Amino acid sequence: MTRDKVPTLQEFVEGLEKRNPGQPEFIQAVKEVAEGVLEHVRDHPRYNDHQILERLAEPDRVISFRVCWHDDKGHVRVNRGYRIQNNNAIGPYKGGIRFHPTVNQSVLKFLAFEQTFKNALTGLPMGGAKGGANLDPKGKSDAEIMRFCQSFMSELYRHLGEDVDIPAGDIGVGGREIGYMFGQYKRITNRYVGVLTGKGMEFGGSPIRVEATGYGAVYFMEDMLKRVNESLEGRTCIVSGSGNVAQHAVEKILALGGKPVTLSDSSGFIFDKAGISTEKLAFVKDLKNNRRGRIEDYAGEFGAEFHARARPWTVPGELAFPCATQNEISADDAKTMLSNGVVAVAEGANMPSTLEAVKLFQYARIKFAPGKAANAGGVAVSGLEMSQNSARITWKEQELQRLLRDIMQEIHDRCQHYGGVAGEANYIDYVKGANVGGFVKVADAMIAQGIV
Ligand code: GLU
Repeated sequence: MTRDKVPTLQEFVEGLEKRNPGQPEFIQAVKEVAEGVLEHVRDHPRYNDHQILERLAEPDRVISFRVCWHDDKGHVRVNRGYRIQNNNAIGPYKGGIRFHPTVNQSVLKFLAFEQTFKNALTGLPMGGAKGGANLDPKGKSDAEIMRFCQSFMSELYRHLGEDVDIPAGDIGVGGREIGYMFGQYKRITNRYVGVLTGKGMEFGGSPIRVEATGYGAVYFMEDMLKRVNESLEGRTCIVSGSGNVAQHAVEKILALGGKPVTLSDSSGFIFDKAGISTEKLAFVKDLKNNRRGRIEDYAGEFGAEFHARARPWTVPGELAFPCATQNEISADDAKTMLSNGVVAVAEGANMPSTLEAVKLFQYARIKFAPGKAANAGGVAVSGLEMSQNSARITWKEQELQRLLRDIMQEIHDRCQHYGGVAGEANYIDYVKGANVGGFVKVADAMIAQGIV
């Protein structure tokens, strides 16, 4: 058999750009993986023979649909909904749903692609998917959100199933939205199954699913520090975002003795020199989860600084936890962070660092954990929610806490295993480690299952 030549990164990216015009986020995510993985493919030609990278970069299915609904004034509104089913080699499609005005095909394709590697890293049997709609939930009433979720699910349900595709939350989709979508799925199909994760505890949810992404990102940081005999104790932590991931990152940072000093939302960031305490965090949770207010209110309440239309990367600190959204750390931000003394970054969000920022962190040899490894705790507990639903039982919180801790440690160790750099015994390239670690599992399953 004549072997196809392994493409250079440039050749691979050229083809990718040609096939996916106008999709910069998707190209960014695939390019990052290709960079880490091509060397491995060169050393293991079977991956090239089976065109694994090329196949992974072509989603199994891109579903796009109209979502129309009535607002409270009786006007008809029209949005666009999506589900991208990227790959189901190692388990049914699994990944969140995002409601945000920036949602488009490029963003969801990047997220579904990332999810495939992330889910593989958890060690659980889950393929990769992502969905969402270009809805701006800001200012919408509960009734509007319910009608939107019902309309969204009225189309999406035909593509789902507890062994087919199991969505969850993401930006703009939390317990409320999952509840409304679950209700509509049940109503249409007359089946009571674990077709969504992140459900309320009364109807099949799992203990610590809400906390898992934020806690997991801090555990990953703890493991990177532990490797070099360091800890979070007494260290200043810069956190972005103020949603579910950021809130629980702050909670775990506090539990491990760190000092979180920032939070942000789309209007700006707060800098609390005294540190965000457990009491102040309770205020943030109420503000964001119940009152759906702006982070600026924190500054008024506690006398902290508020910086409008800015991100927290100018604030000095040692440990950074970007927990807001994609591309929130530019090359300039990365330079500022490095000169301010940042020694480690754990991404709570998906792809918050631009490719240029990642390069700068790697060049500076700081500890950098990419989202697909550091924020995998959320989907890992989703996987455990699926297991509990299948067995029709709920495990004890203590058991899930232990499982999450163990899974994060295993992800860290898998990244360490694949992330070694020749001649640098002390440095781990966690980007390469996560990409190769996730790739190998999916790729081997794909090869075993033939050309499908
Ligand atoms: N949206 C989350 C993520 O980015 C969770 C997905 C899930 O639980 O299925 O991983």
